[in-house]
Amino acid sequence: MDLTARLADLDARIADAAGTAGRDPSEITRIVVTKFHPASLVTDLHALGVRDVGENRQQELSAKHAELAALPGLTWHFIGQLQTKKARAVRVAAQAVHSVDRDRVADALHAADPDGDPLDVLLQLNLTDDPGRGGVAPGRLEALATHVLQACPSLRVRGVMAVAPLEESPAAAFARVAAASDDLRRLIPDARWISAGMSGDFVDAIAAGATHLRIGTAITGPRPDRG
Ligand SMILES: *Cc1c(COP(=O)(O)O)cnc(C)c1O
Repeated sequence: MDLTARLADLDARIADAAGTAGRDPSEITRIVVTKFHPASLVTDLHALGVRDVGENRQQELSAKHAELAALPGLTWHFIGQLQTKKARAVRVAAQAVHSVDRDRVADALHAADPDGDPLDVLLQLNLTDDPGRGGVAPGRLEALATHVLQACPSLRVRGVMAVAPLEESPAAAFARVAAASDDLRRLIPDARWISAGMSGDFVDAIAAGATHLRIGTAITGPRPDRG
């Protein structure tokens, strides 16, 4: 299959999964994760109608964003672990940051452009017991959300993001994400985004209510070596 066929196939599988879950596929945003691929892949995807793309490293995001500035209508999603010293560059290039997981990261994103256009952010949950994996522990989600609300007025909290751990079934993991989303919406009623689901588990994510899928290899094919 070539890129056109893989994209069409994936979108058909998203529509199927949405149908099975009794959901409208138009409420699901399919982000194509283009990390490690050249900017030309984003150009090819754009020609096929893709507008939402995801990157997980700041340098690569910034480089592609600059190279492709002439492509109209792209939305860049930053999905990787974020260091505070990279926050300014991420804010320049991304329209949505899925990986806010601690107060200092939120503070740095806010300080990068306190009076600028609001930046869409998601609070990343860590579904493992390993603090090194990125994400806030579910029990600390409300405290983080409260901090962003009170201290970071240029950030707009849109919802939660998570990566399903390998050691748990995706369905069980995404049920915990849905519960965390409910908790968050008690605090911020319109924070409805749920960013969950990758190439291997997006069907389970759709069943659990995901609104934003982050799909890489199923659309792009294997990633080149990171070099
Ligand atoms: C790479 C990546 C994806 C996409 O993974 P695939 O298995 O290639 O679909 C999704 N989310 C995050 C956070 C990633 O880093």
